[in-house]
Amino acid sequence: MEIKKVAVLGAGDMGHGIAEVCAIAGYEVTMRDIKQEFVDRGMERIKQSLIKLQEKGRVENAEAILARIKPTLDLAEAVKDADLVIEAVPEVFEIKTQVFSECDKLAKPECIFASNTSTMKITDLAKATKREDKFLGLHFFNPPVLMQLVEVIKGENTSDETVAKAVEFVKKIGKVPVIVRKDVPGFIVNRVQAPAGALLMSILEKGIATPEEVDATIRRMGLPMGPFELMDFTGIDVFYHASKYYAKTISPDYEPPKILEDMVKARNLGKKTGKGFYDWSAGRPSIDSSKATDKINPFDFTIVEINEAVKLVEMGVADPEEIDLAVKLGLNRPFGPFEIAKSLGQEQILNRLNELANQFGKKIFEPAETIKAGKLMELAEKKEKKEEAKEEGFKTIKIEKLEGGITKLILNRPDRLNTISPELLEELDKAITQLWNDNETRVIVITGAGRAFSAGADLTTLITHPFDFLEHNRKGERIFRRLSEIPKPVIAAINGYALGGGLEIAMSCDIRLAKKSAIIGLPEVTLGLIPGWSGTQRMVKLVGISRAMQLALTGERITAEVAEKYGLINKVFDDDKFEEEVMKFAREIAERCAPISMALIKRLINKGGEVPMDVGLEWECTAAGICFATEDLREGISAFLRKEKPKFKGR
Ligand code: NAD
Repeated sequence: MEIKKVAVLGAGDMGHGIAEVCAIAGYEVTMRDIKQEFVDRGMERIKQSLIKLQEKGRVENAEAILARIKPTLDLAEAVKDADLVIEAVPEVFEIKTQVFSECDKLAKPECIFASNTSTMKITDLAKATKREDKFLGLHFFNPPVLMQLVEVIKGENTSDETVAKAVEFVKKIGKVPVIVRKDVPGFIVNRVQAPAGALLMSILEKGIATPEEVDATIRRMGLPMGPFELMDFTGIDVFYHASKYYAKTISPDYEPPKILEDMVKARNLGKKTGKGFYDWSAGRPSIDSSKATDKINPFDFTIVEINEAVKLVEMGVADPEEIDLAVKLGLNRPFGPFEIAKSLGQEQILNRLNELANQFGKKIFEPAETIKAGKLMELAEKKEKKEEAKEEGFKTIKIEKLEGGITKLILNRPDRLNTISPELLEELDKAITQLWNDNETRVIVITGAGRAFSAGADLTTLITHPFDFLEHNRKGERIFRRLSEIPKPVIAAINGYALGGGLEIAMSCDIRLAKKSAIIGLPEVTLGLIPGWSGTQRMVKLVGISRAMQLALTGERITAEVAEKYGLINKVFDDDKFEEEVMKFAREIAERCAPISMALIKRLINKGGEVPMDVGLEWECTAAGICFATEDLREGISAFLRKEKPKFKGR
């Protein structure tokens, strides 16, 4: 049976978003809630969201999509023809089981049932029906329209066929499925985070640091919100109930402290009631940054998450690469726990976990068996090998091989002005390796799809942990450096905005050609950031200290022509001739210049500036010696004498 019709139960925060993504993908959808005002509100939210998506060019016909969703109060009408029912009613076991048992009588026998529960055991919910084999979890992330991940949870009695159909469905709605093979509390993403929450509670309970001290410390690392403020923001009750549930199902170590219980009883639930850890009555609390402290170590939160991720692998819930993928997509983080584990190292993680378990007397912080056995790196590295072996299909960049040895690398997120997301960074890294080793590519042209080259880092990518933020920056620097070191000429074809990280990509290229209408700048300082992907360093080399200071300290945006005057851009072309001129420029180089000479010249210029002149000159002599031994030198000279174009082979 193919899934054609979907019924979504609940039109709240999640239900309306799930209905919307299904309709966008072309499914006929019914959306049911218990009161007219609730379905109306859900429909209105979908409408507003679709209008925005249409404005951004991400959907074509908002009206037609909306027409595919039928709001209803009648459960029978909602589910009678459905091939898939997705439940998104409140997180109360009795409500969910009541809904499923009614549906069981009304839906077709072959219809698949899915729950969007955040915590409950799928196996227990399935028992409310007579179709446990056709029952599973489909855990979307908020907001479903934006978040890519869907955890597909296999209950104890879910058939493989049901899981396969659900995976296919998730792909069809444009999301990334990660299969949770064992029905454990918190599944993958919430479960990995659970011990970090418990650690936070221990710090609070033992009075090691105050919420403000913790938040100031975390914010000092560059994050927009500390964990206590975030808890206030989402609701203390949500965290409290999840902790209670984990205490019952995973370990009593998760039991929330009395201080949290008192807050819930007093209805000090955070932003929604005006008071939580902070006073919200006059808006967002101001946190005193001078309260940052070394009484806590921000890396501890990462370490307990890595430990939990390893335990999930040991339990057979998912593989390391699936866990990394789920954490990255579910939490918008640039790195998964196993990727971070590699940079922290086995010893540091093991020792710190032992210390934390002793200090707080909590078993949940004790190292997983794999870590105790000294095999953490083996687990993390196996993942890396597997990833390398995978055939790479890019989503955020495009590679086009053109005639004459020219390869175009296109930053390809046009609806987001090609902003640099963690995924784009990752794919750029892979593309660099690919092009580095590609003998057919003589010249690389980097440009942007649509009207921007790149407007910089994707600021909507919430990185929720300071360590992740630090690693994200470091990773960008490393990738841009590799870009500058590719042993062939790289041309940045700046076709529009080149701001912040976008300009830093362009500055890591060897030659910059720009459209007359392009706008260039380093706006980081106006956001409370710094040009963190080599901008402060490369800009000085290109334009000198005085102009580098001006651009980086003011965040000023300049035109391509001004940038050319500064020496930041090599050539500016009229908008209507830009493509043509860039290709002409690239072709000339590819046809006329010897590949080995270009690779050596590039290295000598880039590295020569970092050493005393004498050393640079010595390198130059050696490089000339290498040229002397190439076939291309003979071809170059003889073609010159023949008055023909040389046919260089790169040998
Ligand atoms: P919500 O309160 O915004 O929406 C729930 C909706 O269900 C309400 O409109 C309510 O009127 C409706 N409802 C109640 N009984 C119903 C019934 N019998 N039939 C149909 N509708 C009924 O809640 P939400 O945030 O959308 O959460 C829904 C589910 O999704 C929960 O299980 C929650 O744990 C899970 N979830 C939430 C998030 C999140 O961030 N909000 C993320 C992932 C999963």
